[in-house]
Amino acid sequence: MDRIMTNCLDKGFYKFQKEFEDAAVRVLRSGWYIMGQELERFEGEFADYLSAKYCVGTASGLDALILACRAVGLQEGDQVIVQANTYIATVMAITIAGATPVFVEPDEYFQIDVDKIEEKITDKTKAVMVVHLYGQAAKMDRITEICRKHDLRLIEDCAQSHGADYQGRMTGTFGDIGCFSFYPTKNLGAFGDGGAIVTDREEYRDQIRMLRNYGSKVRYYNEEVGMNSRLDEIQAALLSVRLKHLPQLTEERREIAERYLREIRNEKILLPECREGAGHVYHQFVIRCKERQVLIEYLKEQGIDTIIHYPIPPHLSKAYAYLGCHKGDYPITETYADEVLSIPMYNGLTTAEQERVINALNQF
Ligand SMILES: *Cc1c(COP(=O)(O)O)cnc(C)c1O
Repeated sequence: MDRIMTNCLDKGFYKFQKEFEDAAVRVLRSGWYIMGQELERFEGEFADYLSAKYCVGTASGLDALILACRAVGLQEGDQVIVQANTYIATVMAITIAGATPVFVEPDEYFQIDVDKIEEKITDKTKAVMVVHLYGQAAKMDRITEICRKHDLRLIEDCAQSHGADYQGRMTGTFGDIGCFSFYPTKNLGAFGDGGAIVTDREEYRDQIRMLRNYGSKVRYYNEEVGMNSRLDEIQAALLSVRLKHLPQLTEERREIAERYLREIRNEKILLPECREGAGHVYHQFVIRCKERQVLIEYLKEQGIDTIIHYPIPPHLSKAYAYLGCHKGDYPITETYADEVLSIPMYNGLTTAEQERVINALNQF
């Protein structure tokens, strides 16, 4: 019996092989590889898809977050409120920008607990960084209200939430800036690294366009110390192809998730919950199990791979030892880190494979 892996990227290529190959060859033959019409077109298409005014491509999701932090003016000494159970890149963007992360525990949907934000606000708080983890929107009506009330900038980490909405509005369009990753495993994945920001504010767009290209608007006239963080033409062209199919790809993920939610029945396994009004795009399908290590081994024997997102929360990682956090500081986050498990969820996972996953979990 074939192994069921946690992802299978070649399936995503072969599904639209001809379109991807045509796009790549078109760019190769054009003689123009950086900052050209493919990028401009993709930026327009992605902004339209989200109903955002502007999109600016970047070299990665982390860069998109770093550039967003700089554009909203984060500085040394500023505090940024962020959920404790995120992928570490979210926190790295904050600290690379020179600011300090202030962690908040997640709610039962794995998103920032909106009832615990205001108690963390100080006179140094400058922004909230919200992460729509695993593909489900955070409670954006409350979050935007809190940010407005306290005059805080709002940055959204949408690296896992392409196409996820809250009450009909796309994630990435609630805050000042929405940040996306096109890392190959993401719901909208490139064939290499890539990222983008979206915003409705012209000054943020112009600032990030300048910063991604060595701080210059006009070639060789540099206004600020910028970065080299451009989304190249081949990736942009390939992303245009994938974006066209994203609604269909999202639908496929939702169907797999609905089947998992309907058919997985085991007292030892907690299934993910869906927030009222939040359109989940199931970047990951994350279950919880107190006997996680036993479950991992058992599934492995059945030929089913799983993965943990994430085993060590940022506040306990070696990289952030200098923040001085301790085990027990964020008990909900730490419990999630001990219990969460992502089961196979990707475009191209066959119904027979889904059935094997369901049966194995039900027999555990
Ligand atoms: C993937 C990811 C990032 C970073 O994106 P890269 O393109 O890998 O730099 C940031 N935040 C979250 C939540 C992610 O999942």
